[in-house]
Amino acid sequence: MNPFSLPAAPRRFQMYIGGQFTDGASGQLMTRHSPGHGAAVAQWPSGVGEDAQAAIAAAREAFDNGPWPSLSAGARAARLFKVADLIERHAQELGLIECLETGKPITQAIGEIRGAVDVWRFAAGAARVMRGEAYNNLGDRVLAIVLREPIGVVGVITPWNFPFFILAERLPFILAAGCTAVVKPSEATSGSTLKLCALLHAAGIPPGVVNVVTGRGPVVGQPLLDSDRIDMLSVTGSTTTGRKAIEASAGNIKKLGLELGGKNPHIVFADADLDDAADGVAFGMAFNAGQCCVGGSRLVVQRSIAEAFTAKLAQKIRRIRVGDPLDAQTQVGALFDEAHMHKVLGYVQEGVRMGAHVVCGGARTGDHAGYFVQPTLLTNVRPATPLLREEIFGPVLAVVPFDGYEEAITIANDSAFGLAASIWTKDLSQALRATRQVRAGRVWVNTTLDNGPETPLGGMKQSGLGREAGLSGIEEYTEVKTAHIHLQARTHWIA
Ligand code: NDP
Repeated sequence: MNPFSLPAAPRRFQMYIGGQFTDGASGQLMTRHSPGHGAAVAQWPSGVGEDAQAAIAAAREAFDNGPWPSLSAGARAARLFKVADLIERHAQELGLIECLETGKPITQAIGEIRGAVDVWRFAAGAARVMRGEAYNNLGDRVLAIVLREPIGVVGVITPWNFPFFILAERLPFILAAGCTAVVKPSEATSGSTLKLCALLHAAGIPPGVVNVVTGRGPVVGQPLLDSDRIDMLSVTGSTTTGRKAIEASAGNIKKLGLELGGKNPHIVFADADLDDAADGVAFGMAFNAGQCCVGGSRLVVQRSIAEAFTAKLAQKIRRIRVGDPLDAQTQVGALFDEAHMHKVLGYVQEGVRMGAHVVCGGARTGDHAGYFVQPTLLTNVRPATPLLREEIFGPVLAVVPFDGYEEAITIANDSAFGLAASIWTKDLSQALRATRQVRAGRVWVNTTLDNGPETPLGGMKQSGLGREAGLSGIEEYTEVKTAHIHLQARTHWIA
């Protein structure tokens, strides 16, 4: 029997401000319907500007006067490990919340929560290795030290595709550095972030250190962008929202970490293991129904194998199990909402109007209470087609053949984005050359979408600014301060 099912009534959540659970100033609620079933599954407060300001004030107070920034790293780490243990204990519950709100398969959702536990534990340990530098080579009279200090209050804005995991790649690093935070999750998928608040509370994270406001981006997110009481913003979302953060920062010069969109290529050379490559490319384009910032959406394949490889790939793609997110056998669930589904299908239709050929997929599928799209492969795609230039954020892959190595790199880099790329070849020097020449923050060779908290993630070009996770994930949330300490009597400037 399937232990996971739709709730009889929507699950009710509250915001978390200054250590208190609250419905906020408006008392209004937002309701989320499962994109896989159409049923109402969750409700949370529709926050207003007043709630955002209260959250900023609580985070400011906790940073300026609270104990958190001045605790030893060991003491902070102990609390973060406790949070990780609690997340692990609630993995199934958190996974179900994410499955119902995002439409992703339950097995994947629980896997992401378990992955998040690992990230929380890594960040907890990283708190204790954050260190500065000493310059003992400036002559007898001077010793210089370089200190890393927590940057202050961090505003964290997260998207709907991986609500809990993306937060895990930011929040524990922010806390490990000694900062405090105001989090604004996506208005459509706030449940797991709000459930996390109960776990933070239970783990003894002091009041005001983490605050969560829910509601619409322009209403409760924009005040975080505009506030001069926030020291840094970490925004994960579309390039449009990233631009808004940049515009707002012109007024208050706050530091920005931006993780934005991608248009990621898979480069398949003729000498690759084609079975491995076909499986990896199918996984990379369809994982999370293609709503994955680092997922592959362009297949750049050597012309000599293009036809055979496309046929092999299409066979794989047709066998992907698309269906009920609550079914443990499902590999690809629903798209995030109806408007997004129509947007994805619109890209395919426009591509076809411009001459593209649908090899497989191309239409809505499944139960029409949910927003399911068949994983779609297209050939004969013109270079100017939006299919090849814009982020579609659906299970859609466009094929572009190339003749020689240089052309492959030119096509791969012909994008405003630079987030990720996958390279498939058995030739090690070709793999390393391409790794160096592809303009992307993350490159996979003979694999795709592998991840671990040790390695930083971020984008080049319009895919973003800064790096999350790894040791740079904690350094992002620090300021660097240099002190020159004079050790002997100074030679006076004015005798
Ligand atoms: P959006 O940019 O639409 O939204 C992201 C967040 O920004 C949401 O919480 C949203 O709130 C909020 N927001 C919207 N307007 C404002 C505003 N004026 N001020 C402050 N906050 C605002 O992105 P999506 O949620 O649609 O997520 C998909 C995008 O995220 C894709 O482009 C994807 O590539 C990118 N992404 C990038 C990743 C990376 O690491 N590079 C990782 C994952 C996703 P609301 O929900 O209310 O609209």
